[in-house]
Formats: sequence, C-alpha cells, structure tokens
Amino acid sequence: MNQKILVIEDLTVSFDGFKALNNLNFSMDTGELRVIIGPNGAGKTTFLDVITGKVQPTQGRVLFKGRNLAKTAEHEIARLGIGRKFQTPRVYLNLTVKENLDLVCNRQKNPLATLWQQPKAAEHRNVINLLETVGLVSKAELPAALLSHGEKQRLEIGMLVAQSPDLLLVDEPVAGLTDEETENVGNLLLALAESHSLIVIEHDMEFVRQIARKVSVLHQGSLLCEGSMEQVQNDPRVIEVYLGAQTDD
Ligand code: ADP
Ligand code: MG
Repeated sequence: MNQKILVIEDLTVSFDGFKALNNLNFSMDTGELRVIIGPNGAGKTTFLDVITGKVQPTQGRVLFKGRNLAKTAEHEIARLGIGRKFQTPRVYLNLTVKENLDLVCNRQKNPLATLWQQPKAAEHRNVINLLETVGLVSKAELPAALLSHGEKQRLEIGMLVAQSPDLLLVDEPVAGLTDEETENVGNLLLALAESHSLIVIEHDMEFVRQIARKVSVLHQGSLLCEGSMEQVQNDPRVIEVYLGAQTDD
C-alpha cells in the first residue's frame, strides 16, 4: 500500500508570533509506523495537536486520507479515524481493566445500551482479544488503580485500539517506564503496526532503536531530516542538535 494516510503541507503554527511549527512538510504511507524525534521544544506535541484539531494551523494544511482537516472539530477528526494517546494515561482508575475496555467497546455502538444491557457475545470476544493484545489477561479483574504505570499505558493503548482508528498517534509512551515495561510497550506498538498506521513521538533513543523503521527528526518546528535510525543517528545536523540540546534537557 502506498497511498498516503497523512500529508502535511507548509504547516505553520504561531503562538503570539512564535512559530512552534514552521513551514513543516511531512507525509506518511498508509500502514506505516513512523517515529518522530527531536529535542524538547522542537514542536512534536504541537504537531500532534494540529493533526487532532486541538490547535488550528496559522498557515498550511493537514490532509488525512486526502481530506483537508481545516476547520474540522476535534471530536469530528477523532470520528474520521485519528486516535491519540496522551503522555499520561487516562483510564478509569476505579473500574477494572476489563470494565475500562468494555466501556469503549460498547460506546462505539449505542451509549444507552451500555447502561442497561449485558455486553453481547461479539463485544465480549472483542474485549478478550484486546486483553490478549495488550497482555493484561491476568489483570482483567483488577481495578486499574492497581496497575503499574506501564500496564496503565498498555490499557490505554488498548482502549484506543478498541475505537478502530486508522491512524494512531502516541506521544512519549515510555516516559517513566522500567526497561521491562518499555520493551512490552515497544512490542505492543510493533504488533499494532501490523494493522494500523502509527506515529510515535519519543525521546528515549533505546526505545526508538527497538521500534523504528523510518524516523523523522523535528527541530525548531521544521523537519531536519528523515531516514532509518542509522542514517539519522549519523547525520551531522542531528548530532549537533542533540548535543546542543543536551544541557537544557
Ligand atoms: P515538544 O513536544 O517537541 O517538546 P512542543 O510542541 O510542546 O514541543 O512545543 C514547541 C514550542 O512551542 C515550545 O517552545 C513551546 O513552549 C511552544 N508552545 C507550545 N504550545 C504553546 C502554547 N499553547 N502557547 C505558547 N507557546 C506554546
Ligand atoms: Mg512534547
């Protein structure tokens, strides 16, 4: 498949004259897993904010499956098939892992039905598949509050996947995780990449090495370079940006 799922043209986002994104051009194929790296303040989160409609472009445009997202509301963009995982997990702590997943699986169909009916067999299967995908079968009946930080991250990724997005945006999923959990999340994202288009923003280079195919480097709101992890790591411009940024990180 080489149809573009996302094309970004000459995108600028200004905050009171400060260009968080500056004439950014970007595109990715359907089915691709793309990792975006860049020093703090490079514009990575703003990049996701503008794709999801949280922030409006000052100039330029975002095309999702060929459709211009200008003036499209955030919830509408979500409905078109863009799902976003924020940095901190947003799960219902007092509900069990399974209940969290039940909630999103049912919400898709009929919100009222969730209140009065037992989950249907197909939905039940769906939840079990999701539990398996995110590796939380043994924790299904535990309140989410009792999960480790990494397990919460995986649960929330499962809740996103339940909504069957075409494009999944994941912002720094392994920040603050143990090495073991980092690897688990990495494996989960790799598994999801088999059936989704994914953008992963990440700081942790070890993790990027684990999952990266093609990497885009963002710097001062523009694309600095793109390529394999090896190409990017050996690019003198990237080395300079990262060495220069090390002290204020
Ligand atoms: P990153 O995620 O790469 O660390 P951000 O996208 O969060 O970078 O921020 C890029 C730049 O834009 C930073 O200098 C940040 O201070 C600025 N910025 C982000 N959001 C806002 C906002 N709502 N108002 C003003 N400045 C902002
Ligand atoms: Mg950020």
